[in-house]
Amino acid sequence: GGLLHEEILVDGLVVDHGVATLEADFHESFGGAVEGAHRHAGKLRGVQRAGAADFSAKRLVMQILVALDLFFFRQEIRRREENRFRQGIMGAHFPAVRTLEDFDFEAQPSIDVKQIKELAQLEWIGQAKNVLFLGPPVVGKTHLPIALGREAIKQGMSVAFYSAEELGSLLDRALKEGTIKQKLYQLSKPKLLVLDEFGYTLFSSASAPLLFRLINSRYEQKSILITSNKPVSEWAGVLGDATLTTAMLDRLLHHSEIIMIRGDSYRLLEKRKEGLLTSARAVGTALTD
Ligand code: ADP
Ligand code: MG
Repeated sequence: GGLLHEEILVDGLVVDHGVATLEADFHESFGGAVEGAHRHAGKLRGVQRAGAADFSAKRLVMQILVALDLFFFRQEIRRREENRFRQGIMGAHFPAVRTLEDFDFEAQPSIDVKQIKELAQLEWIGQAKNVLFLGPPVVGKTHLPIALGREAIKQGMSVAFYSAEELGSLLDRALKEGTIKQKLYQLSKPKLLVLDEFGYTLFSSASAPLLFRLINSRYEQKSILITSNKPVSEWAGVLGDATLTTAMLDRLLHHSEIIMIRGDSYRLLEKRKEGLLTSARAVGTALTD
């Protein structure tokens, strides 16, 4: 498209960088000059002396130049913000594009909308608190953390997203390759670390203590968001070490908020809406992930 209909692809989403934003920038930048032009035109009509008219016209040109400068400056700022957002999204490597806007809260009444909106303010990240999403499969445990992560990136925070399985093999590999120190340092950096689907796969006896080290290094410094299909009482089985798990939970839960999602799988709810099923519960867990 032309200048006024420039579309920017951010993480698979088309952001309409269209007429509205350009108009807003134009208005902010040129508003003063346009007003000035009206004033000067009035003056020009009133004055007869050529000197005064010339002076007034020069000032008008100056104002327009300053306004042009401001206009391009604003465009440049906007462009940089968009670049930063795009790079933040790429760096986080989310598994999908999910936003708060496309989460259907009515479909999941066990989630308190207010609580999620509150989390979307991201104060907890500033305070290095942790968040846990616990619940059965397909209830939004991955959707909401991606959406919150995107909000954090919008606000200029760094985010890294890993499934527990990915992180486990990442740590195992780094240990084998002798790069574990650098890897742990790198993982300690992002303002928010999302560890998704804790509990689906077991940590190896080598990676479990490394996960503890990581969580310990972030304790009271940087936030962690963990999602799990298992209650914390079963996490020892995932890490294969009860003492380690107790120590890890101690750090993790000290400053934390736990969001328990109960209820039906979103896919079943959708199917029921379509009239394919009369009761989601009737088919039990057979259709879940
Ligand atoms: P979980 O991680 O709890 O297993 P996900 O968050 O991955 O579930 O959700 C599975 C799929 O269903 C995703 O595509 C997600 O966007 C969608 N989904 C789940 N719950 C909702 C909801 N309440 N509104 C909109 N989409 C949803
Ligand atoms: Mg998930």
